[in-house]
Amino acid sequence: MFSLTKLPRPFLDRGEGIYFFDESGKRYIDGSSGAMVSNIGHSNPRVLAKMKAQMDRSTFGYRLHFRTHASEDLATKIAEMMPEGLDRVFFVSGGSEAVESCIKLARQYALAKGEPDRWKVISRFPSYHGSTLGTLALTGYDPLARPFDPMLQDMPKIAAPRTYLDRDNLTEEERGLKYAELLRDKILEEGPESVAAFIMEPVGGASTGALVAPDSYFKRIREICDEFGILLIFDEVMTGAGRTGKFVASEHYDVIPDIVAMSKGLAAGYAPLGAMVAKGEIVEVVEAHGGFLHGYTYSGNPLACAAGLAVLEEMEEQGIIENAAKMGEILKARLMALMTRYPFIGDVRGKGLLLAFELTQDREEMAPLPKAWNAYLELVELAYERGLIIYSRRTRGGSEGDHFLICPPLIVTEAQIDEIMAILTAALDAFAANHDL
Ligand code: PLP
Repeated sequence: MFSLTKLPRPFLDRGEGIYFFDESGKRYIDGSSGAMVSNIGHSNPRVLAKMKAQMDRSTFGYRLHFRTHASEDLATKIAEMMPEGLDRVFFVSGGSEAVESCIKLARQYALAKGEPDRWKVISRFPSYHGSTLGTLALTGYDPLARPFDPMLQDMPKIAAPRTYLDRDNLTEEERGLKYAELLRDKILEEGPESVAAFIMEPVGGASTGALVAPDSYFKRIREICDEFGILLIFDEVMTGAGRTGKFVASEHYDVIPDIVAMSKGLAAGYAPLGAMVAKGEIVEVVEAHGGFLHGYTYSGNPLACAAGLAVLEEMEEQGIIENAAKMGEILKARLMALMTRYPFIGDVRGKGLLLAFELTQDREEMAPLPKAWNAYLELVELAYERGLIIYSRRTRGGSEGDHFLICPPLIVTEAQIDEIMAILTAALDAFAANHDL
């Protein structure tokens, strides 16, 4: 097998709640829920029991031959939990496939409406939408995208609203509107008749480090899409299934997108599962013109769907989304307090338990730390050695800041936040000592 990591990593023995144990018995706090996946923690007994029950009946049934209760029940549950109108669900196996599905639905919708020239999907920079060639064309993250130049067909991009880097006299509200206008300008530059959709992560993921846009941004983006008959796609692969303290992040902003991509927290790491959720009125138009030309062998896999349903039931019964909102406030306040102790923490941001901090040489200008330090790798290792897993990237474009995602499972308690903070502080102390900061 290709090596999945360049780093020396122990063999995993087991996971329990927010913890992992390696084969030597060492315990790690899963401070990033893997890659922002394990929303309800590890080895949840209810989910395991429901998966075992499904395994005893069947682990596979091809969608053209059978319907399964697991997939139908999960689709119904998702539609109930989604904002009004987002009620048609199409299952896939992961986030990249979910985004691919959104692109293809948007393009088939344009075709069905007799607008074959609408094929472009505008996206943002920085952004991350997946690792397939189609989703890489949308992704605004050069280290992953540029090696594949010439891209199959790169897509137009606008700047994501990284307002924490702006040094102007505008209010946050005005900045939100300023960044939203970039979409309008880009649509006019490309030609509105050539644009099928605009895609964005409602709260940024790994590429931006939990970027939160001003509230004003969302309403204006929706208006601009409507003005030109362009579909609004929210990539909620990371933000969906409760991560930000709501079932989907769009609920924070009172804006309803036309199509949503979900994955990660949906089956919370218990099985590979993703979903595209679309407005019925869009799917009906496509269905009236021959149907959605898309599908994977594993679409609607009953074992994955049984896991997803058990995860959502557990979330509802245990109040896990509410816990994410509450613990998110506490953890964010604790991270912000670190700024007093460590002047090299330049920004803390995020929503719910999708939280991040970014390092800087000086907070005023947000100048990044020297690139050669590779701070984004070093701090992760310092935390890992001490038994805390966190996730990092170096933001590209505009600023090369090192940022770190702190995103524990949504079941985290206040006492466990204390444990996270104790190890994180020890790792930051070691980092400061290594660099005389
Ligand atoms: N979209 C977003 C916002 C993501 O964060 C990711 C993964 O990190 C993806 C899409 C791709 O998902 P996957 O890795 O499951 O294909």
